[in-house]
Amino acid sequence: MDATEPNGSAGPTSPPPHMTPEEFREHGRAVIDWIADYWERIESLPVASSVQPGDIRELLPQSAPEEPEPFDDLLADLDRVVVPGVTHWQHPGWFAYFPANNSPPSVLADTVSAGLGLIGLLWAASPALTEVESHMLDWLVDLLDLPEHWKTTASGGGVLQGSASDATHVALVAARHRAAERGGQPATQMVAYTSAQAHSSVEKGANVAGFGTVRLIDTDESLAMRPDALASAIEADLAAGLVPAFVGSTIGTTGTTAVDPVQAIADVAIKHSLWHHVDAAYAGTAMICPEFRHHQDGVELVDSYVFNPHKWMMVNFDCSAFFVADKAALTDALSIDPPYLRNTQSDAGNVIDYRNWQVPLGRRFRALKLWWVLRSYGATGIRQMVRHHVTMAQEFAQRLREDDRFEIVAPHPFSLVCFRCRAAADGDAAAEAADRATDAVAAAVNDSGVAYLTPSKLDGRSIIRVAVGQSRTDRTQMDLLWKAISEAAV
Ligand SMILES: *Cc1c(COP(=O)(O)O)cnc(C)c1O
Repeated sequence: MDATEPNGSAGPTSPPPHMTPEEFREHGRAVIDWIADYWERIESLPVASSVQPGDIRELLPQSAPEEPEPFDDLLADLDRVVVPGVTHWQHPGWFAYFPANNSPPSVLADTVSAGLGLIGLLWAASPALTEVESHMLDWLVDLLDLPEHWKTTASGGGVLQGSASDATHVALVAARHRAAERGGQPATQMVAYTSAQAHSSVEKGANVAGFGTVRLIDTDESLAMRPDALASAIEADLAAGLVPAFVGSTIGTTGTTAVDPVQAIADVAIKHSLWHHVDAAYAGTAMICPEFRHHQDGVELVDSYVFNPHKWMMVNFDCSAFFVADKAALTDALSIDPPYLRNTQSDAGNVIDYRNWQVPLGRRFRALKLWWVLRSYGATGIRQMVRHHVTMAQEFAQRLREDDRFEIVAPHPFSLVCFRCRAAADGDAAAEAADRATDAVAAAVNDSGVAYLTPSKLDGRSIIRVAVGQSRTDRTQMDLLWKAISEAAV
């Protein structure tokens, strides 16, 4: 032991000095005040942080404090150290990536979850954690008009994962397990299929799950997966002695919110006994409105489905809802029963042990924030939010359509609109000039501080993604966004 280290010798010990309950109440109120103030002043802050790499670390001491510091200093450093390095996802001028919109009841619920401090590694470790979660996922089945048999009370069931990537990974593991049980071949011979527009998490999950091959299937002019191309790829792989085992469809791709034909893909998947997983990470929330449900036609034929309440349902990160049609297919792949986790209720099969539905053992009480959001807004409030965002996105698209300088590059069925500056003529040189103009518009808007959007590429050409979905976004911000775009474009 170094001479400067504290003395670790034995002797009478006592707990360290904690805040008293009175101090906790006082600081707790100050923290809630800080968050409320932050939300109130957020629009006066530039959406994106402009710090350089290393700037924030430079504000931090070289080493951890040896002696306790007063709580007021911690709170002061939020403004001094953290806020300058924050890109404000909760800014109503947020149009980048997809939203991660939160809400006051969600934040309060997560605070309670931290206060309870539970680890729901099995039912008995906190029955309320598991049962509220199962119940919320069953509620979501009804709210999104998902198949009745996906309820935990039926053959299937829902579970909250940390992210859509985790859910897709777990679906791939279940697919691999089922294919191996059937044919006995190693995972290295198995093939996972998804569209060329699918989220990178499918490829990543397949790699982690040990699949030998991932095939990215061609898309049609609306950027949706072509079922005929999928069928041909499967035939070719079968002829080559490979084992087609998984197909991932997307409802609302990350690039442009393209919608794969779930029903037609399901026909192919069923014919060849593939596990069919649907990734509706962002667009799933829209299914709370009946007018969007035609996008998920055929969903009753799939094996699993994920959507993120933490993207567009006002539940703060992390909260990803994952459903399986057959819960045994999932738990067969993931169950391990060490003796220290054995207990009467689990052994009797009376309860759900969510550790067998996910990779980690420990899990937080995430369902509390979902419950509080669903109760605080009601389905009516969430439908109102979805329709408001979709309407504003469609109004924004209309502005683009009415302006010769711009062109919309993909269908926009939800609240994401992708566009670019129109080329002045045919040919590569004009296309390159249009790409430079598009990139310049994106950079100018993002530098303006009033709005933040995502420059991207589609088929090698520059585009701009505008995702409308922050909880507080209203027409004021849509006007500011349009003004910034319009002023930057030539
Ligand atoms: C955002 C997104 C994901 C990734 O979500 P995480 O929860 O961050 O893993 C996956 N798929 C699609 C279609 C997405 O839009």
